[in-house]
Amino acid sequence: MAIHTTLTLAIIALVSSFANAYDPSPLQDFCVAANDPKATIFVNGRACKDPKLVTADDFFTSGLNTSKLPAFTGSTYSAASINEIPGLNTLGLTLIRNDFAPNSVTPPHIHPRATELVLILEGTVYFGFVTADPSDRTKNRVYAKTYSAGDVFVTPQGLIHFGANIGAGKVSTIAVFNSQDPGFNFIPDQLFGSNPPILDDVLSKAFRVDKKVIDQIRAEFS
Ligand code: MN
Repeated sequence: MAIHTTLTLAIIALVSSFANAYDPSPLQDFCVAANDPKATIFVNGRACKDPKLVTADDFFTSGLNTSKLPAFTGSTYSAASINEIPGLNTLGLTLIRNDFAPNSVTPPHIHPRATELVLILEGTVYFGFVTADPSDRTKNRVYAKTYSAGDVFVTPQGLIHFGANIGAGKVSTIAVFNSQDPGFNFIPDQLFGSNPPILDDVLSKAFRVDKKVIDQIRAEFS
């Protein structure tokens, strides 16, 4: 192989790594996300702000002693993500606070790009994930428990998981994700509230129910 071809391939390999959507290992102490309206690269990472313009505020957010943003019925959240802390760019972390009213649930969902570690600050919660049984991959197994204040549990990357406030009071949790962009894919919304909708026939056969049942569920998500 001619030496210039090898060089060209090496350069292509290097340049290609910038389009890698997995959290990269940083090559610098920090790469504070620049607010660049002309940016046209839409991958996980963002362009770096000029280091000379970086201040302590780029590594800071506040207000997570409570949460106000609506999540699902009976629950709210607040976040410390790359959107609130531009300095998190390339560092591979996100933190979310959640508060759940009694009887509220976290619908089954996955984080395609992150493992989730949850600390219970307050309350009693049933929480678990489901995956193929390692001893028989044709079967599925739930790993779930009831947790209370001080408990910490982990959900492996990419697995369906869910939760429910089963106590008399509110539940407060702090969740940490090992990605700056974990992804929040809620299964019911994705299956029944997508645009365009998934064909009734597909959902009807998948769930082994009449199409009327699918329409009834779908009506709740439109
Ligand atoms: Mn989760």
